[in-house]
Amino acid sequence: MYDLIIIGSGPAGLSAAVYAKRAGLDTMVLEKDAMSGGQVLTTYEVDNYLGLPGINGFDLGMKFREHADNMGVAFVEAEVTGLKKEESLSPAKGELLASERKKKTVHRIETSAGTYETRAVLIATGASHAKLGIPGEEKLSGMGVSYCATCDGAFFRSRTVAVIGGGDVAVEDAIFLARTSKKVYLIHRRSELRAARILQETLMKLENVEILWDTVAEEVLGKEQVEGLLVRNLVTGEKKELETAGVFIAVGIYPNTELFRDAVECDEKGYIIAEEDGVTDVPGIFAAGDVRTKKLRQIITAVSDGANAVTSIQDYFVRG
Ligand code: NAP
Repeated sequence: MYDLIIIGSGPAGLSAAVYAKRAGLDTMVLEKDAMSGGQVLTTYEVDNYLGLPGINGFDLGMKFREHADNMGVAFVEAEVTGLKKEESLSPAKGELLASERKKKTVHRIETSAGTYETRAVLIATGASHAKLGIPGEEKLSGMGVSYCATCDGAFFRSRTVAVIGGGDVAVEDAIFLARTSKKVYLIHRRSELRAARILQETLMKLENVEILWDTVAEEVLGKEQVEGLLVRNLVTGEKKELETAGVFIAVGIYPNTELFRDAVECDEKGYIIAEEDGVTDVPGIFAAGDVRTKKLRQIITAVSDGANAVTSIQDYFVRG
């Protein structure tokens, strides 16, 4: 029986693991992949993590992991297949004071490596950027293909970039990139943007943004780095190659919560409903990082979430 099992080893999970060990909690991290770090691992350079400007995403992920390893955190590589709602061990609930009852509560996490029991669970499984699934996208991810303009935009200063999508994120990305890039193509599959009107108005005023309506991206071109983008107009059927150094894909993100939707309350998009303190609607189950309802999904806010959640977990053990 662990005090705390953390599901997910991205920045939120690893930050929580460090704080939990420092708090003397018997902690284990369940990670799906052998490589910890989450989305940060696929970021070419991280320019906005305080104190480490320009650090390679992979290196930052490894530093996070090293820190947790040095603290003696236990890691188990296994895929979670289920989370059983809390159960109370005997004696019956009514016979215990609230604080004692919490100590007797157990959560069971089913995984590909067996079932684990824990007094508290922290879900830190993050979110994933929706992919287009076109040729070249995966191969050149981190080599010019990016899913985060605020993370990677600065690397394309004075160059031409393309943004794909028509929602708030795509339009915000195009506006953001237009400040420093030479030219921005916004590629949208329809003739109307989904983004908020105010964003559209700002976008339309920018002289270095060209919108390609009714257009889809068919292939990211380039051997080692992005060199261009093959696009097709859905109305005319015309295909053309755009010369671009960066391709920003903003076609939506989704939280990695499929397994937990019956266990904890999620919003309509699947994010676990929790504030900065990580507290969910189920006592003993907490959430941190991109997986929870929040405004800014960045490495630094995920790290902060991990620390806050452990404070809530300690409170839960003390106060019940
Ligand atoms: P989104 O609103 O779901 O927009 C996704 C866009 O990608 C849509 O324009 C969609 O086209 C396009 N798309 C989806 N799949 C595609 C595909 N396979 N090929 C080409 N295009 C594709 O997602 P988002 O922009 O990431 O925003 C996510 C959520 O955060 C939204 O609810 C948004 O309102 C919110 N948000 C709010 C703010 C703000 O309030 N300032 C800022 C950022 C995000 P269609 O339009 O044709 O469906």
